[in-house]
Amino acid sequence: MQNKAPFISIVAPCYNEAGVIDVFLQEMFDVLKRLGRDFEIVFINDGSRDKTLDVLIEKAKVHDEIRVLNLARNFGKEAALTAGIDYAQGEVVVPIDVDLQDPPELILDFVREYEAGYDVVVGKREDRTTDTAAKRLSAEFFYKMHNKISDIQIPQNVGDYRLMSRRVVEAMKQLPETQRFMKGIFAWLGFKTAVVTYKREERVAGESSFNGWKLWNFALDGITSFSTAPLRVWLYVGSVLSLIAFVYGSWIILKTLIFGADSPGYASIITIVLFLGGIQLMGIGILGEYIGRIYLESKRRPIYIVEREY
Ligand code: UDP
Ligand code: MG
Repeated sequence: MQNKAPFISIVAPCYNEAGVIDVFLQEMFDVLKRLGRDFEIVFINDGSRDKTLDVLIEKAKVHDEIRVLNLARNFGKEAALTAGIDYAQGEVVVPIDVDLQDPPELILDFVREYEAGYDVVVGKREDRTTDTAAKRLSAEFFYKMHNKISDIQIPQNVGDYRLMSRRVVEAMKQLPETQRFMKGIFAWLGFKTAVVTYKREERVAGESSFNGWKLWNFALDGITSFSTAPLRVWLYVGSVLSLIAFVYGSWIILKTLIFGADSPGYASIITIVLFLGGIQLMGIGILGEYIGRIYLESKRRPIYIVEREY
C-alpha cells in the first residue's frame, strides 16, 4: 500500500479474466512507465468463478501499486466500476476493461488532454468492426432512440474508457442511485470534455459477458434511468385513441339513427377490443418497468459489498 495519493488510478473490473490479467498488466506497466508518474492499479474482482482472484492476489504481492478489491459476489460491471472509482485515490481516474479491447497507450493521450485543461477525456471508438453486426446495429438503434427521448445525450461509440479528474469523481460520488447506468451517469455529469478516437480491438482472450438478453436489459436500464418519455407517451397514445373512438362512435350512432340498427359488426368490435387490450397491457408493462426500479431504488441498498481488500 502506498501512503501518498498517486497521480493516476487505473480501475479495472474483472469477471472471469484469469487468462487476461498477465497480458493486461504487461501492457499497462509499459504504458505507465512511459507516462512516468505515480500510479495505482485498482482491480475489482466481481465474483469471478475462475482463478481471477488468486491471480490478482499474487500480482498485488509482487507490485505495491496494485490494489485488489474483492466483491462479495458478482454485482455486475456497473457496480464493480463504481466500487473501483470509489476506492481510487488518484488525482485522475481511468476505468478500463482488462480484456485489452481498449488500448492502454491511449492513456498517454488522455493525460495530455487533461493537462491541457480538460476534466473528462473520453475514448471514442472509430469503428466497431470487432463487434458483431447485431451488436453494432442494436447499439446504434439504442443510442438514436435514447437520445431522442432523453434529456441527457449519450455520445455514440463512447464507452466507459475515459479519464476523469478528481472533481468529476467527487461529483459522481454524489449520485446516490443504486441502479447504475454508467454511460448515462457520465453523460449527466457534464464537465469540459475532450475526445480521443481509437480503434477497438478484439478481446485478447476469454469471452464477452454481454450478449443478447443481457444487452437488452442493459438498454432498458439505460432508458428508464434517464428518461420518463415511455411513461408520458401513454397520455398521447390514449388521447389519440380516445379521439378516434369518439369519432367512430359518433358515426355509428348517427348511422343507427338514420338507417336503423344493423347487427353485423362483430369484426370491428373484436378488433377494437383486442387492440385496446394490447395497448393497455403495454402501458402497464412500462409502468411495471419503472415501478420495479422505484422498488429497487427505495430499498437503499448499497451498490456493492466489498468482501475484503488485498
Ligand atoms: N465485467 C465485470 N462484471 C460482470 C461482467 C463484466 O466486472 O458481471 C468486466 C469484465 O471483466 C471486463 C469488462 O467488465 O473487464 C467488460 O466486459 P466484457 O468484455 O465482457 O464486455 P464487452 O467488452 O463485450 O462489452
Ligand atoms: Mg470486452
